[in-house]
Amino acid sequence: MQEKGTISIHTENIFPIIKKFLYSDNEIFLRELVSNAVDATQKIKRLAQLGQYAGELGDTTVKVNFDKDKKTITVSDSGLGMTAEEIKKYINQIAFSGAAEFVEKFKEAKDANEIIGKFGLGFYSAFMVADKVEIQTLSYHDGAAPASWTCDGSTEFEIGPGTRTTRGTDVILYVNSESEEFLEKFKLQEILDKYAKFLPVPIQFGTKTESVEDGEDEEGKKKWKSVEVDNIINDTTPIWTKSPNELNDEDYLKFYKELYPFSEDPLFWIHLNVDYPFNLTGVLYFPKVKNEFELQRNKIKLFSRQVFITDEVKDIVPEFLMLLHGVIDSPDIPLNVSRSFLQADGNVKKINNYITKKVADKLSELFKKDRQAYEAKWNDIGLFVKYGMISEDKFYEKGKEFTLLKNTDGAFFTLNEYSDKVKAIQTDKNDQTIYLYATNVSKQDAFIQSANKKDYDVLVMDSPIDSHFIQHLEGKLEKTSLKRVDSDVAEKLIQKDDGYANLLTEEQSTKVKEVFEKAIANKTYSVEVESLSPEELPVTVTMDEFMRRMKDMAQTGGGGMSFYGSLPDSYKVAINGNHGVIDKILKAENEEEQAKLAKQAFDLALLAQGLLTGKDLTDFVKRSVGML
Ligand code: ADP
Repeated sequence: MQEKGTISIHTENIFPIIKKFLYSDNEIFLRELVSNAVDATQKIKRLAQLGQYAGELGDTTVKVNFDKDKKTITVSDSGLGMTAEEIKKYINQIAFSGAAEFVEKFKEAKDANEIIGKFGLGFYSAFMVADKVEIQTLSYHDGAAPASWTCDGSTEFEIGPGTRTTRGTDVILYVNSESEEFLEKFKLQEILDKYAKFLPVPIQFGTKTESVEDGEDEEGKKKWKSVEVDNIINDTTPIWTKSPNELNDEDYLKFYKELYPFSEDPLFWIHLNVDYPFNLTGVLYFPKVKNEFELQRNKIKLFSRQVFITDEVKDIVPEFLMLLHGVIDSPDIPLNVSRSFLQADGNVKKINNYITKKVADKLSELFKKDRQAYEAKWNDIGLFVKYGMISEDKFYEKGKEFTLLKNTDGAFFTLNEYSDKVKAIQTDKNDQTIYLYATNVSKQDAFIQSANKKDYDVLVMDSPIDSHFIQHLEGKLEKTSLKRVDSDVAEKLIQKDDGYANLLTEEQSTKVKEVFEKAIANKTYSVEVESLSPEELPVTVTMDEFMRRMKDMAQTGGGGMSFYGSLPDSYKVAINGNHGVIDKILKAENEEEQAKLAKQAFDLALLAQGLLTGKDLTDFVKRSVGML
């Protein structure tokens, strides 16, 4: 007997709303229907295991078919099926906690996922692409009768006897005219690849051609023939569902290639596997990155029970680990709620901490196990570690054990090792230990040499993240500050009491200052006369550490730093009053000669800093030749 009824929701006809609202990601209808089919299949398997179903399980492959002429898409399973009563219960009474709440939520909701999952509307997403939806189903219960249900997207449905002769369910979509794109093989294949590639039950989508052996020809060579075989689109046991001790490096690398066919092999990986207090599995890979500008976020794919959900894992994975690749699978992550809720969610926080800890443990293990290999990888890992140190305090605490500093000789030190190395020599009169660093080893060579001459060590800090990292280290390390090696003359980088006596009288100093200011004639350079070792250069041009650092940070996007970025460069010109050249300038015949010598000494300093370019450089060379 055909029975008619009304789907029990209290809001007036929600389908037009769902349809319109969800239009943007309507492809997820297939994810929802295939997931339902997989669930139904797993349930019958479970019942069989528990001895509550005694019949044959048979072939439990889920099948997706389409018919371009009839404009239908059918998802079929051999799952547990439904009786007419169950259809009424599960399909007709849309499971949401109240019409009022629903109406509220769909106004706020930003995407289809939010609303579909929250209100158990998975099945109804079919109406995003279909004018009419039909269910043909036969329950596994002994003596159950096949049942059918059809609905044209209004709140009216028809329920009655069905045509299915074997256990399971067909969901048939009569695709609407705006959604005919889904009646293309490649389109359906693409959606299945995206969402269903790792589902736990085999999914068949049509057939594919394969070459198989076909005996031998007269010469004994193998013969091949083409056959049509089922096109199974998924891998039912992806590596994250297995235990790490069942897997070898090749398995991990193969899976990586499957996920990112165009990427270089990863550096290493971490297998995540926890079931308490939340459930999470996954494999995270450390990619090999050539430079920071190549970094790609959103490379981690998020799954829930092997169903692909999204590759926007922001909030679930700590910010600094967004640079990793791989998969995370957790049924405990609320996938369908708003971002603000996600941030406040206790599980999400725990997951965040867990991942941070696992990554730190792995790095620590690699460091301890084979320091040399770890050092060799530091160029690639360093970025993650520094980023992590800056952004997560918890990570800093662990990371300080395996964070490396590299000096200009290419030697690596942990933070503690480095402190021990330089403390004795590089502590100033105020008991501050000064770490010197270079951001460009070849450009700052003259300064590195001067520092080395004083037995100072110089670190290499040449990546964009380093300006932030330096700032952070200073905040963390006790009684330690960092100075770029060219931020002052070597003599003054680390101020000790053993200053040199000034060989110039005050009058002479003023005169020298005047001569240089006139010769330079540029306000961005402020001239100071200092008493340095006669061994030091006669003139040194430096940029103040603070100013330079602020500008560096502004460049790599430090919050609120843009003010500094807009300031013009300003340099300090240190004249070494104790150098013979200065004496020579003072004793020169006339002002013209003085200016010439001063200009020459100044240009020489600019040259050492890499600041002398273009016409100034050409003029300098010409003048120098003239002096020979
Ligand atoms: P959810 O899957 O979130 O519960 P759905 O709207 O997708 O919400 O489905 C509602 C219910 O309908 C399911 O919980 C299940 O009981 C039933 N159902 C849907 N599809 C099938 C199917 N292919 N086989 C058996 N039962 C199904």
